[in-house]
Formats: sequence, structure tokens, C-alpha cells
Amino acid sequence: MTSSKPHQSKTQTSHSNNTPSRSTGLLPPLNYGLPPEQHRRYTLVLDLDETLVHFDQKRRTYKPRPYASRFCAEMSKYFELVVFTAGLKDYADWILDDFDRARHIRYRLYRNSCKFKRGVYVKDLSCLGRDLSKTLIIDNIEDNFEMQPDNGINCESWFDNPNDTELARYEPILRNMALSNVDSVCDTIRAHFKFTKSNNCASPIKRGSSAPHAHTASPMKRALKPAAGAFGYSMAPSTRYSLAPP
Ligand SMILES: [Mg+2]
Repeated sequence: MTSSKPHQSKTQTSHSNNTPSRSTGLLPPLNYGLPPEQHRRYTLVLDLDETLVHFDQKRRTYKPRPYASRFCAEMSKYFELVVFTAGLKDYADWILDDFDRARHIRYRLYRNSCKFKRGVYVKDLSCLGRDLSKTLIIDNIEDNFEMQPDNGINCESWFDNPNDTELARYEPILRNMALSNVDSVCDTIRAHFKFTKSNNCASPIKRGSSAPHAHTASPMKRALKPAAGAFGYSMAPSTRYSLAPP
């Protein structure tokens, strides 16, 4: 990516004028406007910063996480993909218009769709207008999905490791989840992750912050995490789950 100037998105957002009136949440109804062959039963919500990409503030550009683009392409075959970021719209669109040129990501939600609680922008999945038993989120900040902890996978933060395999490791689990037509994504997450303890906490950002991108994990949080490649989901801000051994 060479341009450093944010530009307007041409893709559909949650605030599109085409949003049907019968929508009961931030998003239009599931599969709205899609032909049957493109219908999906599940919704996969993806965080942006340090989950799919990392923004380099010095160079004013971003780098995609290894395998992130391929991950989105593959997951779009089985899930409705939604990016839900605490970043500002112009910033997120500037990245996503380049990162997702093939438009695998159907909807984008920004900071203005988050709830501000105790200094953290929280992503309340119950506001999406989706069946929560068919909706999951991948986010590097577990506080961001504290309102639906059973629906969240707390991935390792990515900054610059070229050998990162986090998303590639998720792929078979999520594909099998979709192909198995599970009744609840929470059951699948619980079945594949085991409980571990940590004292991780996110670095809060203040309301009205001019930072265009979301808060990032503190160095302390990274240091406290398990060995490279481990990942998990959390049921509370002070707990953490990691992948269970086969
Ligand atoms: Mg993030």
C-alpha cells in the first residue's frame, strides 16, 4: 500500500441508505439481497487492528497479518463476514478498501457502533440483529467482547511477526463448525478451547480520542500471554482460554 491519504469507501456499510426498514439491529437482515447460493447461516465478526492488520504510525501505512487476506477469502465461503472496529470510519475504510479489494467482507461497523464502558469501546454483538447462537467474534482485545464472552475468540495480537500462523490455525476449526451446521457456535468454541488464567487487561482509550485506530494491547499483555501460537477466548476480562490439545 502506497497511499497515505484516507479515502471514501464504496462498499456497503451498516449505515447505508439501502438498509431495509425491517432490520432489527445495526446490520440489514441476514442474507438480505443475496441470491440463495450466497446465503450463509453464520456470521463471523472480525476486529481490524492487530487482528487482521497493523497500522504503522511512523510510515502512515499498514501491513496485513500473514494469511489474513486468504483467511477472509476462505471464511467468506461459510460465513457472513463483518469487520467491527473501534477505529474511525475514514481510517478503517482507507485500510479495508485496499485490504479487501475482492469484497469478501460484507459489512463494516466502526467506533460509532461501539458502546463506551469503563474507558473501553465494547462491541455488543446483541446489537447486530443476528442470532447470537450463530454469531462469533475474533478480537485481540478480550474486553471488546465482554458482553458476549462465550461468542468470542481472543486471538494473539499481531504487530509484525512474519511467521504468525494464528489465523491459519483457526481456519479448519471454523470451517468444520460451519459445515457441521452446529446449533450454537458457543458449544464449538467451548469444545476447542481450554481454560487458562491470566491477568491481561486492555489499554483503555478515552472518549473523544483523536486516535483514528483502536486501542492496542499493552506490552504487558503480550508478555503475559502463553507461548507463540496459543490462542483462546475469554469468559471474563480477567480470564483467558487457549487451544485445547488434540
Ligand atoms: Mg484490535
